[in-house]
Amino acid sequence: MSRRVRVAVVGGGIGGMAAAAFLRRAGVSAEVFEQARELREAGAGLVLAPNAARLVRRLDTAVALEDVGVALQRGSEFRRWADGTELFSLELGEVSRRRYGEDTWTLHRSDLLKVLRSALPADRVHLGRRCVGFVQDPTGAVVEFEDGSTVRADVVIAADGVHSVLREHAALPTEPRASGVCAWRALVAADAAPEPARRPVQTVWLGPGRHLVHYPVSSGRLVNIVAFSPVRAGDVESWSVEGRVEDFAAEFAGWDPRLKALITAAEQVGRWSVLDRAPLSAMVRGRLVLLGDAAHPMLPFFAQGAGQAIEDAAVLAACMAGRGADVDGALAVYERLRLPRATLVQGASRSRLAVNHLPDGPQQRARDRAFAEGDPLKPVDWLFSYDAEQVAAVSLARPE
Ligand SMILES: Cc1cc2nc3c(=O)[nH]c(=O)nc-3n(C[C@H](O)[C@H](O)[C@H](O)COP(=O)(O)OP(=O)(O)OC[C@H]3O[C@@H](n4cnc5c(N)ncnc54)[C@H](O)[C@@H]3O)c2cc1C
Repeated sequence: MSRRVRVAVVGGGIGGMAAAAFLRRAGVSAEVFEQARELREAGAGLVLAPNAARLVRRLDTAVALEDVGVALQRGSEFRRWADGTELFSLELGEVSRRRYGEDTWTLHRSDLLKVLRSALPADRVHLGRRCVGFVQDPTGAVVEFEDGSTVRADVVIAADGVHSVLREHAALPTEPRASGVCAWRALVAADAAPEPARRPVQTVWLGPGRHLVHYPVSSGRLVNIVAFSPVRAGDVESWSVEGRVEDFAAEFAGWDPRLKALITAAEQVGRWSVLDRAPLSAMVRGRLVLLGDAAHPMLPFFAQGAGQAIEDAAVLAACMAGRGADVDGALAVYERLRLPRATLVQGASRSRLAVNHLPDGPQQRARDRAFAEGDPLKPVDWLFSYDAEQVAAVSLARPE
């Protein structure tokens, strides 16, 4: 490479920070421009499945997953809403390490951001830089910020989330698709939570029109709750809308009493509607690259949105390192690899909603019987065993 390729990443969420970290590891210069004045993530947890965790582990981070996360012993422990009857569960832990070479982790979102950021020097991340404009030519692009400053780079990564301002410069936008459900989120101190919720287990309670998930985060000090119920008029898609504990509890009235104890131990709850978008037809236009939720926002029922953003980041870095000065060639390989995979996960996530929310009756009983049969990890093998960097390496090694 005669001159170092420069990359500007717009958005310092999980996707943007992962992009900068993987690019740095690949020897490509990248800087992050985040609109917020301080780096913080929503007060909520997430699941990091083996397909994403194995990529994060390959980064040279000062903070490790083990320092802040919880390695699940069991996942998808499905329980019946009324009395907690166990319908199905996935042994993870040793089984996951043997099968996928990695654990499934649960983390507070800000802890995952801390892990990713610890792979970057502080001067690579610029806060208080809200992108308001973008222009490009055949060799690069200029990002314009609200404060009047501009940055020129060879490649601009749009990692600015589900409401991306950059997306419309890259692809024909698709309309947000409502899911008909809203999400409730809360964190509870582990010592205030009922005992079953403190186990290193992701528990999923299924009931008619609703489901509720809980798992420990922050090295087990907190329990994360995320639940879904029918949307109400006026719900907005945002990390910051506050809900009321009593409304959350009322949505799950009549469910197993342990859930009432868990919900009412929360001091604060967040509430918002949940949406995705129809898959885009492109992730790259010229020197603008879409990544993470800016490209493929998905319903959260497979717990893969952040995981797919991390896969995007690792593949983009591999392509840019592999193609060197051929920037356009690198971006073409990125799009070829990422568009079908992310589209598949988007579709799978959407299809889970109806399955999780079946009313009690013959279909629900057939679902519960099917849960209990066969190899419980088989349905997620395609997702968890995928090694995005290996897939990229194979593709890049093929003659064009
Ligand atoms: C209820 C729920 C549960 C979920 N659970 C999971 C889970 O268990 N596992 C999982 O993998 N995923 C989960 N997800 C999905 C996951 O949260 C997202 O897919 C992930 O956060 C996407 O990361 P991102 O970096 O693309 O976008 P974001 O996290 O939205 O980050 C975008 C960043 O860009 C910044 N930004 C926006 N506009 C601008 C601008 N104009 N200029 C500069 N900066 C800007 C924002 O401030 C933000 O920091 C869940 C989502 C929901 C709603």
